Amino acid sequence: MPPGILVTAGPTREYLDPVRFLSNPSSGKMGYYIAEEARRRGFRTLLIAGPCSLPEGPLRKISVNSARELHKAVRRYFGRFDVLVMTAAVCDYRPATCRRWKIKKSREALEIRLTPNPDILAWAGRRKMSKLLIGFAAETDHVIENAREKMIRKNLDAIVANRVGRCGAGFDSDSIDYVLLDNSQPVPVRLRRRKKQSAAKEIVDFILYKLKTGKN
Ligand code: C5P
Repeated sequence: MPPGILVTAGPTREYLDPVRFLSNPSSGKMGYYIAEEARRRGFRTLLIAGPCSLPEGPLRKISVNSARELHKAVRRYFGRFDVLVMTAAVCDYRPATCRRWKIKKSREALEIRLTPNPDILAWAGRRKMSKLLIGFAAETDHVIENAREKMIRKNLDAIVANRVGRCGAGFDSDSIDYVLLDNSQPVPVRLRRRKKQSAAKEIVDFILYKLKTGKN
């Protein structure tokens, strides 16, 4: 059987009433390109995507809305795949309650209590066994140091450290300022700007190399 790869992509939406939500501008492109590249190179591929517009095509895809739905889907499919790549920009918090009816406008300030969402990647890191786990760390500052800390804390094989919040690369762009950090090779590195499609190729090359050498 060909190796299987599960990729998550896009933002999550955390509703506070039936018509309003907290979210972020993730386009889902990075995850889509990784899944598409892996499919092209013979992987069994499943993409789990939050709400974003991705091209239709031969990729097997499941749509979710919230972090909790994403977690449920990852829990369901994790065991059937050899690799998990979490590119999804999961909202760290959700409103503590989602109102049944639309919140009415008033002149009073409105306070919304937020509660933490589950960390899906950390969940996977605790159940990793021989699977290959790759995370993304979108950072505005101390990009490489913060990403390395997350890779270790979440028990990942590798993490893509990427800079967000600057013009020309990041969340809703075709380019990414990034470096792929390998947990087993702590060498000095620096960020490079690439098209997301070429970053996806590099990431899939890395996955193939890791699977071949069994170094995860
Ligand atoms: O801790 P931070 O959110 O920066 O970690 C980023 C990585 O963790 C990404 O790969 C993201 O998909 C994943 N993540 C997750 N569940 C969360 C938050 C982030 O799986 N609740």
